[in-house]
Amino acid sequence: MKTQNQSDSKSEVPEEGLYPEIIRENYRGSDKLKGKKALISGGDSGIGQAVAVHYAREGADVAIIYKESDDDAKETQRLVEKEGKNCLLLKGDLSDKSFRKECIDEIKKEWKSLDILVNNAGIQYPKDDIENISDEQIHKTFDTNIISMISFTRDCLKMMGSGSRVICTTSVTAYRGSDHLIDYSSTKGAIATFIRSLATNIAEKNILVNGVAPGPIWTPLVKETFDDVSDFGKDNPMKRAGQPSEVAPAYVFLASQDSSFITGEIIHINGGDFVGG
Ligand code: NAD
Repeated sequence: MKTQNQSDSKSEVPEEGLYPEIIRENYRGSDKLKGKKALISGGDSGIGQAVAVHYAREGADVAIIYKESDDDAKETQRLVEKEGKNCLLLKGDLSDKSFRKECIDEIKKEWKSLDILVNNAGIQYPKDDIENISDEQIHKTFDTNIISMISFTRDCLKMMGSGSRVICTTSVTAYRGSDHLIDYSSTKGAIATFIRSLATNIAEKNILVNGVAPGPIWTPLVKETFDDVSDFGKDNPMKRAGQPSEVAPAYVFLASQDSSFITGEIIHINGGDFVGG
C-alpha cells in the first residue's frame, strides 16, 4: 500500500485521491504518550496505521494486529521505527479465539502490561439489497467487528490498570444508518453501545473507554470495497472525504492525560455531518 508522508505541510487540507495521508509532516509530537505501550488492531493500514505512527511520534511503543498484508505491516513498522519506537507485528484473524490468546500471550511476554488498546480492525461488504446479504456474511461481519472485540477487550483488561485506555472505532453509519451497509452499520451501532456500557462498568477502576466515529475517510478499505468512489465523501457539509491524518489525532487525545475525565464518549470526525450521540 502506498502512503503519502511527504505531503505539502503548508496545505491545511490534504490532497484527496490516490494516497492516504498518514501523518501531517508538520505534526509535532510532545511526549503525550511517552513510555506507553499501545496495541492497535488493524494497525497495518488506513486509520490504524495512522494511529500507530501518531502514537509513536508521541512516544509510545506499539504492537499492531493485522490479518494479511505483510507488506503493509512492515511499512507501518518502518514508519514507527522512523519515529524511534518499537513496533511488534501480530499476524492473524481476530475472530479466531486461539489467535486472540496468542496476541495476549505475546504482549504479556514482551511488555507484561498494556496501557492502550485500540480496537480498530473492521470489515464491510456493501450490498444494495438485503436479499443479497448471506447468513455467512452476517456472521463474518459480526464476528470480526464486534464479537471478537468484546471478547478480546475482556481478556486484554486483565493486563490493564488504572489510567489505561480502551478506544474503539465505530462509524458515522452507526448513527445515520447505511442503506448499502446494513450488517456493517449494525455492528458499528453495537460498538457504540459497547463503549458506553463498558465505560460505566469499569469507570471506578479509572480505565477509560471511548470511541471515534469516522465519516468517509480515504483508506484502502474504501477502495477495496466500493466499485465507484468518485462521489465518496461528497455528501457531507465539507463535501470531501477525510484523511487518516485527520482522524488519528483524536486517538492521541483519547489515549493521553488530556482526556482524563472523559469516558463513554465518541468523537465524530465526519466533515460536519450532524449526528445525535
Ligand atoms: P483498512 O481496510 O485500511 O484497515 C482495516 C484493517 O483491519 C485491515 O488492514 C486488516 O489488517 C484488519 N482486519 C480486518 N479484519 C481482520 C481480522 N479478522 N483480524 C485481524 N485484523 C483484521 O480500513 P480502515 O478504513 O482504516 O478502517 C479502520 C476502521 O475504521 C474499521 O473499523 C472501519 O470500519 C472504520 N471506519 C472506516 C471508515 C472509512 O471511511 N475508511 C469510516 C468509518 C469507520
